[in-house]
Amino acid sequence: MTHDERMQQVDQYIDDHLQDFLNDLAELCSYPTVAAQNQAIDETADFTAKLLEKYGFNARVMPSTGNPMVYGELAGSSDKTVLCYNHYDVQPAEPLELWDSPPWEATERDGKLYARGVVDDKGHIVCRLAAIAALNAVYGEVPCSVKMLIEGEEEIGSMSMEPFIEQHRDMLAGADGCLWEFGGVDFEDRPEIVLGMRGDVYVELRAKTISHDAHSGLGGSIFPNAAWRLTWALSTLKDQNERIQIPGWYDDVREPTEAEMELLRNLPRSDEALKKSFGLNSFLKNVDGVEMLRQQLFEPTCTIAGIGSGYQGPGSKTVLPAEAMAKIDFRIVPDQEPDDLVAKLRKHLADQGFDDIEVIQHNGSRAARVDPNSPFVQTVIETAREVYGKEPVVSPTSGGSGPMDPFVRLLNVPISNVGIGYSNTLVHSPNENMRIADFVKGVKQTARVMARTGG
Ligand SMILES: [Zn+2]
Repeated sequence: MTHDERMQQVDQYIDDHLQDFLNDLAELCSYPTVAAQNQAIDETADFTAKLLEKYGFNARVMPSTGNPMVYGELAGSSDKTVLCYNHYDVQPAEPLELWDSPPWEATERDGKLYARGVVDDKGHIVCRLAAIAALNAVYGEVPCSVKMLIEGEEEIGSMSMEPFIEQHRDMLAGADGCLWEFGGVDFEDRPEIVLGMRGDVYVELRAKTISHDAHSGLGGSIFPNAAWRLTWALSTLKDQNERIQIPGWYDDVREPTEAEMELLRNLPRSDEALKKSFGLNSFLKNVDGVEMLRQQLFEPTCTIAGIGSGYQGPGSKTVLPAEAMAKIDFRIVPDQEPDDLVAKLRKHLADQGFDDIEVIQHNGSRAARVDPNSPFVQTVIETAREVYGKEPVVSPTSGGSGPMDPFVRLLNVPISNVGIGYSNTLVHSPNENMRIADFVKGVKQTARVMARTGG
């Protein structure tokens, strides 16, 4: 039998057994696994491990520094291995009144399946399992070995991922490629492939100048004002040309490669739509086109995400605030290191005379980037063309952040994505849904990636 004939049989199997896969997905979605509310974590981990076993994996629930990991291995017929990274936790379902059907009861309407987690990320777990079932049925065994690592803290920051990978490096290393947890098609139904993520450093700055708020007539000319202290400190972080002024901030920034710039040049342009949707006349520094994308994806940022002090109610209140706070979200790029940056921030504030400003670090993750020329990425691109009949949109990095760095840095595995989402998936919102046709395509492409990686 030729490869194409086998793939036709794989596709047929997927079409014929679709309802079984959707039933498994519905059962997985019935667990209200909200990590932020510490809900149904152990039950979901246990059920997920059982589900992996049902599809032929040797699976177990493993302890981590936080919520348990589910890990499974399935031996294939070649010495190649695909590692799948997924998560069993989901976002809260609130506000419940905005759901058209109950969030923990998968409901089918108009060719779509609705439930919290149906795409993010339980649907992707079942997508990988369905592909394995089809390959097993047609080939007798899966053409490559598969390892599945499923965490339970993705929606609250993946705090345990790096220590877990460090501790279990031998178990996880040696894969030929890693399928990331998300994926799907864009607003024109083109498959989207993302080859990296930015990192982030999130800090809170706090100024406290006097023991309690004072009458501004009493203290205005003799008491230090916390709002002014914080404002002066903030104004030293970035200049009006958007350049971060903290010494050494850009020292470790890795410039985009020619291959990455080439990907940027091939990305569809959304400048005008983006400006229109935000009521903007121009982007910062007046950039456009490829330069806009370069600035958006490859430049570190310093964003004041929240700020507060003093009286903010109606009318006037003559008060001198004792305290002020700001939250700052720094997006970072390879090879910047979060702890090093926070140390630089503290030193900068002290050097500028602001050692009274408290710096509280909330979280930090490194950025990651994958070589677009790696054979695994090429396999994903080719199989996307084959299944979707459209040229995939390949982005060198996402503007967002996620736990990709320990996979790249500690396991040295190329990462790409195949998925089931679409532009109106509404992840993290009420009425999260997947189009069942997208699920089928995601399963078919996953099967092709595994077959092709196996050779
Ligand atoms: Zn999510």
